[in-house]
Amino acid sequence: MNLLQGKNIVIMGVANHRSIAWGIAQSLSKAGANLIFTYQGERLRENVAKLVEELEGESLLINCDVTKDEEVEAAFAEIKEKVGVIHGLAHCIAFAKTEELEGEFVNTSRDGYALAQDISAFSLVAVARAARPLMSEGGSIVTMTYLGGERVVPNYNVMGVAKAALDASVRYLASDLGKENIRVNAISAGPIRTLAAKGIRNFNSVLKEIEERAPLRRTIDQSEVGDTALFLMSHLSRGITGEIIHVDAGYSIMGK
Ligand code: NAD
Repeated sequence: MNLLQGKNIVIMGVANHRSIAWGIAQSLSKAGANLIFTYQGERLRENVAKLVEELEGESLLINCDVTKDEEVEAAFAEIKEKVGVIHGLAHCIAFAKTEELEGEFVNTSRDGYALAQDISAFSLVAVARAARPLMSEGGSIVTMTYLGGERVVPNYNVMGVAKAALDASVRYLASDLGKENIRVNAISAGPIRTLAAKGIRNFNSVLKEIEERAPLRRTIDQSEVGDTALFLMSHLSRGITGEIIHVDAGYSIMGK
């Protein structure tokens, strides 16, 4: 099914083969999309370049640290120069200091709060603004969120508050950009063992609880998020914007 044949899609946030962004890249690539990858600093370029060799066709690789306005601007200027129009963007970026991901939320530092918001929530606004002029044929923006933005999940703390801001940003962006046929949605993924998840204390017990209590009695993987992103990037989801779709084996419907 070449649902994305001829579509140019930007993938932000591949760090290694476990990254959710890489799961998304694989699904979109199989569906025929031309992919453009952005990565956080030259340190990660080699990782991404190696992974991308597994995909069919050539992909563009561009450095972009989302905390730097000039890098966001330069990245999208380069994308414009090289491919002109883009049809989709997958934003799979988040960060919080490890010390903020344990203990009580009430002890969150001012710096730690601001940093988590900047990288994990504001960056979606910054990249949506930069991508907008390139989405002249309409487009689909997909970001990654987590249940910890809707409910209290132990140790998720400052990142939960950042995800709540991200979820609200999805709705405000969807409202602004809908008139240009640019859709904005989030996937709320169940926990998956990745580099970012390593920072969360007691992550193993979170996985175990999902296996015991989620309706499907199992955790989910990157390919399941990837296939949902494929749906959200394709015309099949053309009537959906401002939504948060849970890909979590049903865990979020359960009461205690
Ligand atoms: P990951 O560590 O593979 O990906 C996080 C990415 O964020 C990395 O590629 C990193 O380079 C990038 N990043 C961090 N700071 C950046 C910056 N300043 N500029 C540019 N990029 C930056 O982990 P992941 O789990 O694949 O995370 C991807 C997204 O999925 C995140 O938003 C995360 O919160 C979300 N998510 C993860 C899970 C999970 O259990 N793993 C569940 C739900 C949502």
